[in-house]
Amino acid sequence: MTLISRVFSGADQWYDQATEAVNNAIAKYGEDQAVDFGHTAYSLPCIYAMLGDKIGTLGEAKAILEGKIKDLMTRQPRVKDVFTSGVASALCCELIEVCKYIEGNPYEAPIIGHLTDAEIREIGLPLVVDDIPGVAVIIGAAPSEEEAKALVKGYQGKGIMVFMVGGIIDQCVAQNLEMNFKIRIIPCGYDLSSVIHVVSVALRAALIFGAIQPGDWDGMWEYTMKRVHAFVNAFEPVDDQTVACGAGAIQLGFPVITNQEENIWNIPKSLIIQKDTTKFDPTSLEARDIKIKIVQMDIPVSYAPAFEGEIIRRKQTQVDFNGADVNENAFELVRTLPLSEVEDHKIEVIGPEIDEMEEGSMQSLACVVEVAGKNMQTDFEPVFERKFHNFINCLEGIMHTGQRDLIRIRVSKDAFAAGFRAKHFGEVLYAKVKSEYAGVVDKCQVKIITDHDLVKQHRADWAQAAYAKRDERLESLTDESVDVYYSCVLCQAFSPSHVCVVTPERLGLCGAVSWLDAKATNELDPTGACQIIGKGGCIDEEIGAYEEINEAVNKYSRGALERVTLYSIMQDPMTSCGCFECICGIEPFSNGVVIVNREHVGYTPLGMTFADLASMTGGGVQTPGFMGHGKSFIASKKFMKAEGGIQRIVWLPKDLKDQLRDKIDKSAKELYGIDNFTDMIADETVCEEDPEALMAFLTEKGHPVLGLEPLM
Ligand code: SF4
Ligand code: ZN
Repeated sequence: MTLISRVFSGADQWYDQATEAVNNAIAKYGEDQAVDFGHTAYSLPCIYAMLGDKIGTLGEAKAILEGKIKDLMTRQPRVKDVFTSGVASALCCELIEVCKYIEGNPYEAPIIGHLTDAEIREIGLPLVVDDIPGVAVIIGAAPSEEEAKALVKGYQGKGIMVFMVGGIIDQCVAQNLEMNFKIRIIPCGYDLSSVIHVVSVALRAALIFGAIQPGDWDGMWEYTMKRVHAFVNAFEPVDDQTVACGAGAIQLGFPVITNQEENIWNIPKSLIIQKDTTKFDPTSLEARDIKIKIVQMDIPVSYAPAFEGEIIRRKQTQVDFNGADVNENAFELVRTLPLSEVEDHKIEVIGPEIDEMEEGSMQSLACVVEVAGKNMQTDFEPVFERKFHNFINCLEGIMHTGQRDLIRIRVSKDAFAAGFRAKHFGEVLYAKVKSEYAGVVDKCQVKIITDHDLVKQHRADWAQAAYAKRDERLESLTDESVDVYYSCVLCQAFSPSHVCVVTPERLGLCGAVSWLDAKATNELDPTGACQIIGKGGCIDEEIGAYEEINEAVNKYSRGALERVTLYSIMQDPMTSCGCFECICGIEPFSNGVVIVNREHVGYTPLGMTFADLASMTGGGVQTPGFMGHGKSFIASKKFMKAEGGIQRIVWLPKDLKDQLRDKIDKSAKELYGIDNFTDMIADETVCEEDPEALMAFLTEKGHPVLGLEPLM
């Protein structure tokens, strides 16, 4: 038997299985029965991406199976036919899986199955900054439970996102491995067909971030090959159906590593036989050219971005450092000192160590990082400090929330038992600050203060004093008060023509890059992702059009983008990559805009969900009327300034509205003299899909948008 004949035989089996699934479903529900996975704007995403067809009903599913999918299963023994049969097999899997979804989500925890568009957008940024350097797809059962867990933990420890199909899932369950989306270990399902949920993530990445057109077959696999660093580990026995799916994976650029020798043939870089399953990890990384950046740290627990999503519950907690508690204080702070006052790598614990604290108790803590360097600027202090959340959260068994003097850090009993102590916060902060900010930090020392009274004292005299100064500085930072703006092109790793223009009053749409962040990034790496943009050649101040900005976006998008404005959603709006925190779209009845954040799952008065609205823009394309943006941009005085500003906002999800209430009200008061403007903005408790209810609410509240000129 040849590899080619195995692929064809597997593809035939997939075809029969899909036919059976669809026919059975039709017999039960009829041809008009709607089919979808939910929370995606891309129909059956793989079929839509590869073939360009939106499948809405079982009847359409049957037609495409017997038509275009069958046509892909040509039986010429040529390499090309092997790959198209592989992809066709994957598309059969999608039909088999969607039939399971007819009566709602068929999966129960820990199985996840289909991921939502919002979840894919959420991992966009970690992917571009290499927090997720790769994606592993593990199929089948490992030789032992211990080995299964070791393989998954090994990947997780490197930041690699892990998808699991089949026997390995129960092996990990038996080993008590925590598995969920937040910690980036995702059990897709027990049936091999559930592997399609990973393929769906890769292809939706191409649609969402890459703006590859649906049906652009070559564009799709070129995108996934170049930009989605995935690979497959298939444990023996590898049957023909797995081989067929493997051919599909290889077409998408994902190498397959297996320990099966019989009836498998090595194809360099694509299909690799590795008899020793304990070497799957290094063999895979090498095959997919994934390089792991390692920062050496002397700590007793694992350290990886995947642990950011860990939740430490009360009963698992050894100590709870809590800045929001009435009796305790906790804060974090970066201080710039003269070079002579900093001793590099000095780490002090001032006060009791964790083993001197009562189990389960609430305690005080200060993490003070003191830095010195010729190029250090006080403007960078908050930039570094905001990263502490991420630096500390990557520790396994430690949970960090909040910022400044409202932080809360829980140390789990497991981490404590492994030897984790307060001094290790110092080790991590030292190592990360030194490695990430090497360009400006020459020396760094860390004080971890646990002494109750001392924390209280320094919260007032060091921390709060510093925060007040910074807030004053931030207040004074306006688009008018600075001489330069910055470009950011980090997301070009996924959205090749996208450019963010970051100004003091308009942060990057991911919400993670403020003007100060961009300034620091530029200082740290002058040829890197953030470049200085001058403000010369003002074309129209009202809409924020400048010749120098146009030249810059033109240059950094390599000609894909000619012009952007800073303040308009209608005229040359800024592009979106896909990882935006919020999406804003015009609401035609009120002439206002609706804004929805990624976390909100329900409908908006536009009759669309976040996923639907988000799919209207992205991939570095300009779409007047739709704009991705960061959460805090909503309260900015520059939000849609060209079209009347924040008084255009007619609907926001309640949670988001409450989060931003004070800031929105403040801006509305200063700009238009309106009191409590947030109360005039509708939310899902007023109306979801109903524009008439929205209009009635706005009229009742006397919302200012009703007196503004039409937007279109
Ligand atoms: Fe991506 Fe823009 Fe954020 Fe930079 S500022 S990381 S380009 S979204
Ligand atoms: Zn992005």
